[in-house]
Amino acid sequence: MGLEEGVRIMRHLAIIGSGPAGYYSAEAAQKQWGDDVRIDIFDRLPVPYGLIRTGVAPDHQSIKAVSRRYEKTALSDNVRFVGNVSVGQDVTVDELKGLYDAVIFATGAPNDRPLAIPGDDLANVYGSAAFVGWYNGHPQFATLDPDLTGKNAVIIGMGNVALDVARILSKTRAEFEGSDIVAHALDVLDTSRLEKITILGRRGPHQIAMTPKELGELGHLSRATPRVTPADLPPEGDDAVLEPGQRKSVAHLRSFAAIPESLRADATIEVEFRFFGAPKAVLGENGRVSGLEVAETALTGGKLVETGKTEVLPCDLLVSCIGYRTSPIPGVPFDERMGRFANDDGRILPGLYAVGWARRGPSGTIGTNRPDGFSVIDKIQEDFESGVLGQSPREGRAGFDRLVEQRKLDVVTFRDWKKIEEAEEKAAREGAPREKFVHVEHMIKARN
Ligand code: NAP
Repeated sequence: MGLEEGVRIMRHLAIIGSGPAGYYSAEAAQKQWGDDVRIDIFDRLPVPYGLIRTGVAPDHQSIKAVSRRYEKTALSDNVRFVGNVSVGQDVTVDELKGLYDAVIFATGAPNDRPLAIPGDDLANVYGSAAFVGWYNGHPQFATLDPDLTGKNAVIIGMGNVALDVARILSKTRAEFEGSDIVAHALDVLDTSRLEKITILGRRGPHQIAMTPKELGELGHLSRATPRVTPADLPPEGDDAVLEPGQRKSVAHLRSFAAIPESLRADATIEVEFRFFGAPKAVLGENGRVSGLEVAETALTGGKLVETGKTEVLPCDLLVSCIGYRTSPIPGVPFDERMGRFANDDGRILPGLYAVGWARRGPSGTIGTNRPDGFSVIDKIQEDFESGVLGQSPREGRAGFDRLVEQRKLDVVTFRDWKKIEEAEEKAAREGAPREKFVHVEHMIKARN
């Protein structure tokens, strides 16, 4: 049984990662065990909310507002934010296992799935984790400094992240009003001389992974217009086989294809959708990307094949938005092929669990992580009931605090975060909700 406080059995949970999956799991744990649970939510950064802060696009403030719900959870007495602590470095997984009944990995998928083609290491070639992290002020990517002074950008992938990147590259400074895009990104975007942004998909219009609302936004930009070549679209009647959401997305592509040339005249940037093109090699001049070799593909019997034809797209900036991988942590079984923790419906090993993208890979919306959080807590409750967990008492946060003392760890608390947040809000340019600190040392300084 867990540590007893009077007649109560206290459950001690460590959640690694303070993004949506982490906070939804904490909320679920509170619903499951009420006052009989203590939850420590760890983050390697001194600031909470993971993907909400550094993944969700800065001009999607209504999505970011979900963090208010997480704040409600964070402010409960039985939940603590343990920021600026890196699990695997400052504290090992084995140590956490010894201190808490269950350790839940909610670490997301912060690394780019590699493009893995020749030339992908050339300058001005980025993965979306890095590029999105740059304009969203993630400390790891604050110094990226992409060069936007060429004419042609190519974005690989036809998911919502590709749309985010295309939209951010297309917007004017005025269109970022009300967003929390970081100043260093706005300054570089101001230098942009991009004229054409190609979004490259290896399959066709019916296979895009973009959702209707996000696709629709591309049709309402002040200096950019989307282009779809009408001949690339399948006959309209074929859309009937699509599920309703996908049909709406394809309807947007059809509306882009129908934009008359007269309405394109004012646009200085064209966002072109190129289908059935697989990236083969990044070409460069003087160590810098200058083109992308693309192989024409076709779907035959549902299988993707190359036709043998190739072409080179001019390219001065390449951003590959083809998905993400979870970071392995020493001592935690990892599924290399899937790029996430090896798990059976959230269970990794007795006492170790995964939730959110760290469990299922990078798919779904923010909201998908809520049922995920509730599901992992159900599994943990089952494991308490079956005796897999709770066999020997755990010390929980008191034991961790001792480690903090011994190792002189500089833990950032939720109260500290509120001070950092206040400083970010004070520093906001006019009309913006905040100006984020983009360096860890500046975040730490702001809480003092
Ligand atoms: P995604 O939706 O899985 O899209 C990845 C794209 O990359 C697909 O078009 C895929 O094509 C393509 N791709 C993968 N490997 C490739 C390769 N080797 N060469 C060329 N193309 C390749 O991933 P995502 O855009 O990173 O988004 C991740 C998740 O976050 C999604 O669930 C997304 O909806 C969500 N998200 C939501 C929002 C929002 O709601 N506003 C914003 C951003 C992200 P195939 O289909 O051919 O594999």
